[in-house]
Amino acid sequence: MRAFKPHLRGLAPYPYASLEAPVKLDQNESPFDLPPPLKEEALRRMARLPWNRYPEIHAEGLRKRLSALLGWPEEGVVLAPGSNLLILALALAAEEVLDLSPSFPHYAHAARAAGTPYRAVPLLEGFGLPLEALLEAFTGGVFFLPNPHAPTGTLFPEEALKALAERAEEVGGLLVVDEAYREFSGTDFRALLGASPHVAFLRTFSKAFSLGGIRAGYLLAHPEVAQAVREVLPPFVLPAHTGAVLEVVLENPGYAEEVAAYVRAERERVYRRLLEHPTWRPYPSHTNFLLVRTPDAEEAFRHLLRQGVLVRRQDRYPMLQGCLRVTVGLREEMEAFLRAAFEVAYA
Ligand SMILES: *Cc1c(COP(=O)(O)O)cnc(C)c1O
Repeated sequence: MRAFKPHLRGLAPYPYASLEAPVKLDQNESPFDLPPPLKEEALRRMARLPWNRYPEIHAEGLRKRLSALLGWPEEGVVLAPGSNLLILALALAAEEVLDLSPSFPHYAHAARAAGTPYRAVPLLEGFGLPLEALLEAFTGGVFFLPNPHAPTGTLFPEEALKALAERAEEVGGLLVVDEAYREFSGTDFRALLGASPHVAFLRTFSKAFSLGGIRAGYLLAHPEVAQAVREVLPPFVLPAHTGAVLEVVLENPGYAEEVAAYVRAERERVYRRLLEHPTWRPYPSHTNFLLVRTPDAEEAFRHLLRQGVLVRRQDRYPMLQGCLRVTVGLREEMEAFLRAAFEVAYA
């Protein structure tokens, strides 16, 4: 086979295997579907659309709405079907990708697919941000920094982000703060880091907005950076039906607050319960999931699955030996998880 670039050989697939289970806590999804009245309104708007027509070239109408809602210049907003696609576009455009290890696996995957030089700096013990090593390693290119961090759930301190933003400015690089979990930490780093051409923010509708299946995310950046990213993406990239859903959601964003409030409270409840576990150790989380260290990830995973509870193994990542990731689901789902978790301890 001589059709594809040789660097794509041996590219590992995205680490996800789909399994069926009654209690699904493996993908950091919202446990709630979009509220029915909003879903019905979105369907009505979809039905009114002319499906034979292309949507707007770069979702101009929605960008205008987002811009008004967030107080961010319209030219600095890029909408795409999923922030994963924006990560790929940024990785394609980047001179180099800088990453943490462990981190959200799609950054590395996108860099490798793009054939972009890639480096990762290990987290400190206890999952702290390795600021000194990062300041040294960040010499240009794009640095993807999830904050709150996946897969550990850690929230990095403001001062560190500020130092990294200054470094980005100094070296002419781009710091991309991925705020996929921001609704669960209640943080917004835009005010702190400002509208520098060297800082951008990634956001998604997949988590607190409960639209994982719809595929939508956006980038907030300096207009010039946004323009460069739009040029890498194909035209008309945001489907018309996705646009119809987003229109409704942006007119009624309040429900996402309720989802986030539920998740935060339930996360803390489950965290406290897990502190009483004789062998498992939960890490504090600012996201919609809990990272839990067990003596044996494979055994813990299989035991939970036998009890109908599907979680995600994280033990193949550096520093995460024995770790599982549990999405915060419905109260009864979390009770099923806790029952199974405590059973394994006394088996
Ligand atoms: C879930 C998640 C996303 C969301 O990706 P989408 O393509 O918008 O669904 C982005 N970044 C991180 C770190 C995530 O965990």
